Amino acid sequence: MKENIIAHNYQVSKADRQESNKHNSFLLWFTGLSGSGKSTIANVVEQELHKTGIKTYTLDGDNVRKGLNNDLTFAPEDRTENIRRIAETANLMVDAGLVVLAAFVSPYKKDRDNIKNIVKDVNFVEIFINTSVEECERRDVKGLYKKARAGEIKNMTGISAPYEAPENPDIEIKTENQTVEEAVQEIIKFIIPKLNRQ
Ligand code: ADP
Repeated sequence: MKENIIAHNYQVSKADRQESNKHNSFLLWFTGLSGSGKSTIANVVEQELHKTGIKTYTLDGDNVRKGLNNDLTFAPEDRTENIRRIAETANLMVDAGLVVLAAFVSPYKKDRDNIKNIVKDVNFVEIFINTSVEECERRDVKGLYKKARAGEIKNMTGISAPYEAPENPDIEIKTENQTVEEAVQEIIKFIIPKLNRQ
């Protein structure tokens, strides 16, 4: 079947879309434990970008796990498929000219490397929200750690499933030492040159 899929040459290109948006498009990928602060920080980064006219979209567990990926579990092979589909979706959005923010635990290094292959290195900004499991458990924003300790949730990252920390993230945020505002400013500062605004 695959050999019969021949790409059509569309005349409006990614470059055309970026030119009309007046900025580059790429993917900001937030990784870290549940409750580390990914969505909180991504949300404020998106607001800051949106305020200045940047075209954005945020992908997160709520809008992806409930729709596109509602057939997937938290077993390792499904987590891999979850990230692959999100990366492919993000890739289309980057092609559409958007700055895409994605906030997912994404615990496996090989899956994050795969995102880089799908969207291409140059379009991928890896942001490690580095908060200790002790602090995430203390926050327990969604009550998931409590459930995991009670054995009600299997495969809970940081408790009963591994988290492979990025070795060379583009940005590392330590939320135990940095405020949300400081984290946001650090991220914005990093991406300003990448935006290449006209
Ligand atoms: P995640 O998306 O990683 O699961 P959330 O953003 O939903 O995590 O939750 C993080 C929680 O931690 C929020 O309640 C947030 O207010 C709190 N928090 C405290 N300090 C910080 C900080 N410096 N950066 C981000 N979040 C923080």
